[in-house]
Amino acid sequence: MTQADVERFADQIVFDMDDSGSSCTKIEVDPKTGKPRAVIAIGKALYEEVLEAYKNGTDAANDGWLQMRIASDICHEVAHAIMGLTHGAGVEAYFGDSLVAEEGYEWEKRAFGGVFRPEWPACKVPRYYVDSTPAAVKGMIVLGDWPCRSLVKAYQSRGWPIGVRGEVPKVHIVWHTPIAYFVNLLQGSWWATEFASRGPSALHPPKITGCRYVTRDGPPVSSVVYYTTEDEEHLADTVPRGYEANWRGLVVPMEGPGDGL
Ligand SMILES: [Zn+2]
Repeated sequence: MTQADVERFADQIVFDMDDSGSSCTKIEVDPKTGKPRAVIAIGKALYEEVLEAYKNGTDAANDGWLQMRIASDICHEVAHAIMGLTHGAGVEAYFGDSLVAEEGYEWEKRAFGGVFRPEWPACKVPRYYVDSTPAAVKGMIVLGDWPCRSLVKAYQSRGWPIGVRGEVPKVHIVWHTPIAYFVNLLQGSWWATEFASRGPSALHPPKITGCRYVTRDGPPVSSVVYYTTEDEEHLADTVPRGYEANWRGLVVPMEGPGDGL
């Protein structure tokens, strides 16, 4: 997806709302022009949450997270729209040597270094505080590495378009994301300094603490924290270069020689 593509197809992309919860894109014939158009339906519940947090105005953590979430959702769907308008509906593209073709997640991976998601969103225990007040953020926000086998399996079991070539690793890492990352995105000063000096890489949150998950195949599709000994066979070669597993099994940056002595 290039800027030129986005401009070229701008008048063939329309936005709508979807009651089912998740955002999606449909390619159809525009009844007025007879040309193909992409209809991007944004999940209504998310949209309403974003408006609510914005109006509330006092919870920068929730506001920042939700604004990022809907912005990321829109860009994810625009990636599908451009691909659908270029190659037809239901076609997913492989980028480079990627094992999985799902251009929305591929875009998220390139923009942020992974895919943001809330863990345990139904849990009522507050995870974040703004000025000593519990933030309304639902769950703990993590950045999941892409590709993620459990997500791929979930797509396949629902019959959603996704391409796979080769074996998607059983283990993927989710990274704890500091909530300050989302709060910063609301600050003009952050864009004027960090983004201006570092460019798009400033949008990649630091990967300081990661947790490895193993996907067990077969219905129901599920992921588990890797800890049990029966998962050990899957853990070899799962720590990225420059990282190590600490005594708790968490993935952390490798300490250089002499550090901490
Ligand atoms: Zn998608």
